[in-house]
Amino acid sequence: MTSRFGTADHHLTREHHTQSFSSTHSPALRVSAGETIHVQTWDCYKGVIQTDADLIKDVDLAFVNPATGPIYIDGAEPGDTLSVTLIDIQPEERGVARLGVGEGQLHDKVKAPYGRFFSVIDGIVSMNETVSFPAVPMLGVIGVAPESGEIATMPAGKHGGNLDNNMNCKGSIVHLPVKHKGALLGMGDMHASMGDGEICGTGVEIAGDVLIKVDVIKGITTDFPVTETADSWITHGVAVEDLTLAIKLACEEAAGLLVNHWGFTYEDAFIFLSVAGDLGIAQSVHPSSGTVIAKMRVPKIAACPKPFKI
Ligand code: CA
Ligand code: ZN
Repeated sequence: MTSRFGTADHHLTREHHTQSFSSTHSPALRVSAGETIHVQTWDCYKGVIQTDADLIKDVDLAFVNPATGPIYIDGAEPGDTLSVTLIDIQPEERGVARLGVGEGQLHDKVKAPYGRFFSVIDGIVSMNETVSFPAVPMLGVIGVAPESGEIATMPAGKHGGNLDNNMNCKGSIVHLPVKHKGALLGMGDMHASMGDGEICGTGVEIAGDVLIKVDVIKGITTDFPVTETADSWITHGVAVEDLTLAIKLACEEAAGLLVNHWGFTYEDAFIFLSVAGDLGIAQSVHPSSGTVIAKMRVPKIAACPKPFKI
């Protein structure tokens, strides 16, 4: 089918979405490994913030972060990795960022609720007449059905979900641990730009179109999703209101991959990550309750050119 990207094998409109990740959801689309899919996504507010008056409205959290999907990938089975290549991410032309009452690192310094619209034209995000910067479109939410139960699209976890890693951008591959047949992939919460930590709780929230390719790596899995870029691979750690634990989990996943796939001793992995890796914060919207996400960037060098040896 023809999309704004040209030809894709499949096309999934945003009318097909869920507010949670669960193995009980019926697939909206069934595809084969190696195929491309044009996925249309809502902004995280499902389009309800349109006017200045809307900026200060209460938002029903039950409808935040709709994830387009689920997409069933033939051949994906528990114990495999689903590799989602983000071939292209094209936001629409208008996004929004907001301050919520009691949310984010500077919540005690500001008047909230408050918000503002951004224009996103020709790859440039404009906040006002003087502040503009390049767009780096990314997906806040990307995940698969979790091992057990139903997990809302608001938190992050081992299944992915609201990972809010700004490295989940055009050209990256997001490797997700498959827990159920077909994986049941969903995505949304596009940002035209989002800084490390997303300190106020929003990026430039925007709707848009994503072109992805899905592949299955048989018999390889990780604890949390792993992102791969042209020059790095990045592990994640997620914990509820505990950044210290999230950091430890991201470091442990990176060390585990260096040891299990690339033959490092644990001691040398520890030292290598310290001297050449970059620890970062994907999301920390203190003091809001919920998950915080750490990331560990490992440079692609000859000794560890990919996250997995396959
Ligand atoms: Ca998010
Ligand atoms: Zn968002």
